[in-house]
Amino acid sequence: MTTSERINLHDLAPAQLSATVGEVVSPPFRAKQIEEWLHLRGASSFDAMTNIPKELRAQLAERFSAAFPEVIERTTPAADGSQKYLFVLEDGNRIESVYMPMTDRTSICLSSQAGCAVGCTFCVTGFFGAGRNLTPSEMTGQFFTIAHEHAVPMEQMNVVFMGMGEPLLNLDHVVTTLDVFYRSIAPKRITISTSGIIPGIEELAKLPRRPNLAVSINAPDQKRREEIMPITKKYPLGELIATLKRYPTEKGRELTAEYVLLAGWNDSISDAVALAKLLRGLNVKVNAIPFNEDANLPAWMKRPTDVAIDRFVSTLVRSGVHVTVRRSKGRDIAAACGQLRGKSEPRKRSRV
Ligand code: SAH
Ligand code: SF4
Repeated sequence: MTTSERINLHDLAPAQLSATVGEVVSPPFRAKQIEEWLHLRGASSFDAMTNIPKELRAQLAERFSAAFPEVIERTTPAADGSQKYLFVLEDGNRIESVYMPMTDRTSICLSSQAGCAVGCTFCVTGFFGAGRNLTPSEMTGQFFTIAHEHAVPMEQMNVVFMGMGEPLLNLDHVVTTLDVFYRSIAPKRITISTSGIIPGIEELAKLPRRPNLAVSINAPDQKRREEIMPITKKYPLGELIATLKRYPTEKGRELTAEYVLLAGWNDSISDAVALAKLLRGLNVKVNAIPFNEDANLPAWMKRPTDVAIDRFVSTLVRSGVHVTVRRSKGRDIAAACGQLRGKSEPRKRSRV
């Protein structure tokens, strides 16, 4: 069997994995050991499973695979330690992930699709057009590969789905991936960022265990949001805010409203006042993200000056809004997933 004909066990949720492996191995504790190797330790080969008899490992390798995507490039660490990874998938698609160490925790930013059909005009991934949904093994694989490379203790780990793609357009695979992560990471340490796919948010709301939800708002009104996020025509801003008002946030948690700051376009004092008004009544904090410039994006899109960023943020604060700013240069690489791949690829024109 070739790798692609074998079932990749990392594509299965924990219960499904134990049942599938249980058909091949006995006694039952062996299936449990294998599930732990895969989901808790992120093993990517059966050979690594040292407490499993050699013959059984060989049998498993004949029927199944446990492979992860391969790293083909990693940037040198930025001043704050952040590092971007480029992975190649079995079909040749390339995706990016980012390692972000912080003092009290470490975050890994994952891609959920190889491209994005949502087509926001300020985003390099959107610029390159639609790709395909990533499988669970391609998502957990980004995480475990980077976590192993840096030997980060699991209890410090945070996961953010803020890389390439729209996670709520790949919800089934993302939910399986979450179930695997929940084996070692608490839901409150995982965040899904969406461009505002209302049916996807409603599905998330029904899950018994929910990650944090971040929504890319990016403009204070329908008209301007439509200009940079065409998805706003399908899912209007007013309906999105109403959906978020109904969203059940757990005690002690809040929603995040991401807001990409574009110089002279959505960064004025009146924009901050309008944003505060739009978000009134929501249990939300704003994450202001200074725009990350890229040669593939429209030339008029610029990062605001630090003075303009401060003015915007302090206006929000004065309006009673809880706000954080993504300031460090190293961190910027996370707000610009797609740029590493973008350097070497021609553009496909396929948007929703
Ligand atoms: N598709 C999801 C998650 C991936 S994008 C979403 O849109 O939320 C993750 C974040 O990066 C979003 O908040 C998006 O607005 C932001 N982003 C995309 N391109 C950017 C750029 N060039 N500069 C700054 N932030 C950007
Ligand atoms: Fe897709 Fe998010 Fe980029 Fe928009 S910002 S194109 S939704 S990845």
